[in-house]
Amino acid sequence: MSAVIAIRPESKGCADAPVLRERGQREVFCGLTGIIWLHRKIQDAFFLVVGSRTCAHLIQSAAGVMIFAEPRFATAIIDERDLAGLADCNDELDRVVTRLLERRPEIKMLFLVGSCPSEVIKLDLSRAAARLSGRFSPNVRVLNYSGSGIETTFTQGEDACLAALVPALPAAADDAPASLLVVGALADVVEDQFARLFKQLGIERVRFFPPRHANELPEVGPNTRFLLAQPFLADTARMLEARGAKRLAAPFPLGSEGTSAWLQAAADSFAVDAATFDRVTAPGRQRAAAALARLRPQLAGKRVFFFPDSQLEIPIARFLARELGMQLVEVGTPYLHRQHLAEELALLPEGTALSEGQHVDNQLDRCRAAQPDIVVCGLGLANPLEAEGLTTKWAIELVFTPIHGFEQAGDLAELFARPLVRRMKLVA
Ligand code: SF4
Repeated sequence: MSAVIAIRPESKGCADAPVLRERGQREVFCGLTGIIWLHRKIQDAFFLVVGSRTCAHLIQSAAGVMIFAEPRFATAIIDERDLAGLADCNDELDRVVTRLLERRPEIKMLFLVGSCPSEVIKLDLSRAAARLSGRFSPNVRVLNYSGSGIETTFTQGEDACLAALVPALPAAADDAPASLLVVGALADVVEDQFARLFKQLGIERVRFFPPRHANELPEVGPNTRFLLAQPFLADTARMLEARGAKRLAAPFPLGSEGTSAWLQAAADSFAVDAATFDRVTAPGRQRAAAALARLRPQLAGKRVFFFPDSQLEIPIARFLARELGMQLVEVGTPYLHRQHLAEELALLPEGTALSEGQHVDNQLDRCRAAQPDIVVCGLGLANPLEAEGLTTKWAIELVFTPIHGFEQAGDLAELFARPLVRRMKLVA
């Protein structure tokens, strides 16, 4: 076992801390939002939302400013006219898909993405996907998942998408050599950095999921060990475990400390010696430390309040508190997966106020009473809070921006420093 970086705290941090459970009105985006980053990641996949005009507007307005090539997502609008018969809807869906695949032969994987309007819920998209897959395979694999806004938060769209993809992964032989699977969509630049680090550590058989292309699906089996790169992949992890893969428990690779511990979990599992681990990770740690030292004076001592939104709240709060000296007023998260977040909770400062779920009015009351220096929240809350004089950070930016790994630790800190500096200039 390599033990260069001793980050395990003496105390148990927030491992057993009480959590305020909130149930009330929520202010979050739905799972369709995941399409924005997933379509960039899987470069020959197409996401066809089966939804309403509202869904089409959400996707267009969220993605419209970010696309730079022919879009690989669209909405098949099912409106009241289609309620006359579900058979008609299925026929119409088949026609839309056929037209799309004829026109876009580069598409190798098609996701039918369900939504929450009642007329869509009545459609059996899994049967539609099986029917269409039978017709278009082996050229195109058709899968389905739900991006519905009922009882979800926006990052669950990625979880649902990847969970739908797990049954399509080829089976690794029972006696296949041990391999590492990194699970969760990462920016390509980050993925390349991690791939280099794993190679330098001597871990040879490393794959990333989701892959960049539909024909690069990684094998999975009892000798697959996986590291979650994102904290919101509970269903995907469950599906991988059902295929025999074993999760390596670790904090998430956010900040220098989180990245070190995440890599350390892989190093321990693959028997990388301590000297090698230290030699390979030291340059990245040093660069991250230098980048964070520049930003620490702007952030240390500042008080931050997290509304539940992206499910990244706990790892980011851990990073802000431990590496930048920020004070955590409240860390709200939509869902608290105690098992996947155990290592993170142990690292959070003791006494951190944790809340799970949302009751937006109660949280707004607590936030206003606390008057934090910065509030991390969804877009819908940011503008009103800014108007009240509070400084905000959009949680969704944390998903759209490359923030994982040593090289991005400074960028992650900068995301929080920038709004504070802007507010100071406005006030001055
Ligand atoms: S899936 Fe539901 S919440 Fe999301 S845009 Fe469509 S109607 Fe709105």
